[in-house]
Amino acid sequence: MSVIIDGKELAKKIREDLAKEVVEIKKNGINPKLAVIMVGDDKASKVYVKNKSKACEEVGIEYEEYLLKDNIEMEELLKIIDKLNNDKTVHGILLQSPIPKHLNIKEAFNRIDYKKDVDGFHPINVGKLTIGEDAFISCTPFGVIKMLEHYNIPTEGKNAVIIGRSNIVGKPLIQCLLNKNATVTICHSKTKNIEEITKKADILIAAIGVPKFVKENMVKEGAVVIDVGINRNEEGKLVGDTDFDNIKDKASYITPVPGGVGPMTIAMLMNNVVKASKNLKR
Ligand code: NAP
Repeated sequence: MSVIIDGKELAKKIREDLAKEVVEIKKNGINPKLAVIMVGDDKASKVYVKNKSKACEEVGIEYEEYLLKDNIEMEELLKIIDKLNNDKTVHGILLQSPIPKHLNIKEAFNRIDYKKDVDGFHPINVGKLTIGEDAFISCTPFGVIKMLEHYNIPTEGKNAVIIGRSNIVGKPLIQCLLNKNATVTICHSKTKNIEEITKKADILIAAIGVPKFVKENMVKEGAVVIDVGINRNEEGKLVGDTDFDNIKDKASYITPVPGGVGPMTIAMLMNNVVKASKNLKR
């Protein structure tokens, strides 16, 4: 019988602890603030942004939203980022993706002051993570690591297999797991005989974006299975990248979707904003 990792509950605890910390920070005259930029009116982004503002409210972080028209020019977007970079009352800046195709998202992300880059996407933060320096870590991988730590799941010397090599999930996870002394393998769409690799995983992390990609025969008995995927099935129901119902009795620990990694991502964003406000001390 496996343990179902309760990301919702853990995220709630993290937010509660952060709320207490924010009360103390405010006594020192620091008022943590997150600025969120959203371009256009992507439906899913609207939901994500709403959840972030709700979390900020719970934690006591000031929240400011910039809703920009989808025909905005790159120059104007960069001007807004510059303004927020220079605003001493703003500690964290988040650019909600996706943004319209005519805009250069890389340039926009890179323009955010790395000290306010609470998403952990800036090349300086990515580089710092890689060489083991203090950095803002991308929120989803950071949330995965917090889950493993909270459930006392050992990583040292373990075979960790990640499926998916995106810049925001798979790649930073390599570094996070290496830092915790795991032996890391990463798979992607060009990987051959993927199940031969996943079957050797003590810790298997799926970040693919394909509903129920990971089947029971791809999982080793007693493996820890972390499902990052958020997909909608034909009935509009949220499903992960793993076939949860058929894997749950084989795994030692498993995350559900929803209620697993998702809530942790937002909790770690809150963590990063509080960290930024302490670093910037203003
Ligand atoms: P992404 O940028 O689309 O990357 C997907 C990765 O999966 C790519 O590296 C791709 O390989 C690999 N892949 C796709 N099909 C594959 C296949 N058949 N076999 C092996 N590998 C395959 O996605 P992402 O942004 O990392 O997100 C992945 C999933 O996590 C999505 O469902 C997303 O909604 C979810 N997500 C959840 C959270 C959260 O808070 N829980 C946060 C972010 C993302 P190639 O590189 O070779 O194309």
